[in-house]
Amino acid sequence: MPLISLVVPCYNEEESIPLFHAAVICALEQMQVEYGSDDDPVRFEAIYIDDGSSDRTIEAIIELAQAESIADLHVRYISFSRNFGKEAALLAGLKASKGEYVVTMDADMQDPPALLPQMYGLLITSNADNVATRRVTRKGEPHIRSFFARMFYRIINRLSDTDIVDGARDYRLMKRNMVDAICSLREVNRFSKGIFGWVGFKTEWIEYENVERAAGETKWNFFSLFAYSLEGIIAFSTKPLHVASIGGVLSCLLALALLIFIVIRTLVFGDPVAGWPSLACIILFVAGLQMLCLGIFGQYLAKTYLEVKDRPLYVIRCTNIGDLDD
Ligand code: UDP
Ligand code: MG
Repeated sequence: MPLISLVVPCYNEEESIPLFHAAVICALEQMQVEYGSDDDPVRFEAIYIDDGSSDRTIEAIIELAQAESIADLHVRYISFSRNFGKEAALLAGLKASKGEYVVTMDADMQDPPALLPQMYGLLITSNADNVATRRVTRKGEPHIRSFFARMFYRIINRLSDTDIVDGARDYRLMKRNMVDAICSLREVNRFSKGIFGWVGFKTEWIEYENVERAAGETKWNFFSLFAYSLEGIIAFSTKPLHVASIGGVLSCLLALALLIFIVIRTLVFGDPVAGWPSLACIILFVAGLQMLCLGIFGQYLAKTYLEVKDRPLYVIRCTNIGDLDD
């Protein structure tokens, strides 16, 4: 039987981890019944990445690693020196994974472990390279957050050539070739939802109703989500830069037309001193437009600066994985 790796980023999840692990074991036992046999059991490794939690997350994980509650599940962990964000945690987990199949999932049960047998079944019977999940409702989420989320997907799909699916979770079961492709992307500004789409491969989708967090609380507020969505757009589209240049050309053309109009009007009607409010408005408008375009350039420049520095995406404080290569 192949080895299946579970990659689970955890940030302040001390309450969720025991619940999550118990649910995972249930799902794995079911997979063993469905797909394994006594002399050829399904093999698993769970890689928990502690993303610099300030609570007792790492202690909870080490407890699981020491208990190793079922024979063919090995619990491995990586603990970061500080909070580097979920994207960095996912990358560390994917790089450390050894399985022919790899699952990425959240620790808060919003990616239901009970779906694992179905996902695995679908992957081995279809000719797909990965099985992805998508929530069809946003039940339990604040309406304003759902509204902005929908807007975001509409905008990014219009701006980017990469297909970014509305409601797609980072809950995916992938074959090794896809995992290797994801790890080969060296960018610092990682936006998983875009990266999954960018690497391509054949995807089968499983849909489910939104599930609320089992314990603890979400790490995202409105502003952090807004910043994340801007990062996604910048990472997967350069169209805002084109929009800025086209805006510049259009405002030049408009200025030329106005100039011709004013010259002709002065020649025909003389030069009464009037119209300074409209002038003030035009100057403010154009200045605003320039600042906006500069801002857009600045965003791309800032991201380029971070990419050029090529810093590691995370620093490991401790791990029980012996042969981590970078
Ligand atoms: N997470 C992480 N680092 C962070 C923020 C979140 O590893 O800086 C993990 C978190 O522990 C969880 C997953 O990413 O397993 C999703 O986070 P959360 O549930 O807060 O996001 P939401 O589901 O509300 O979008
Ligand atoms: Mg969550």
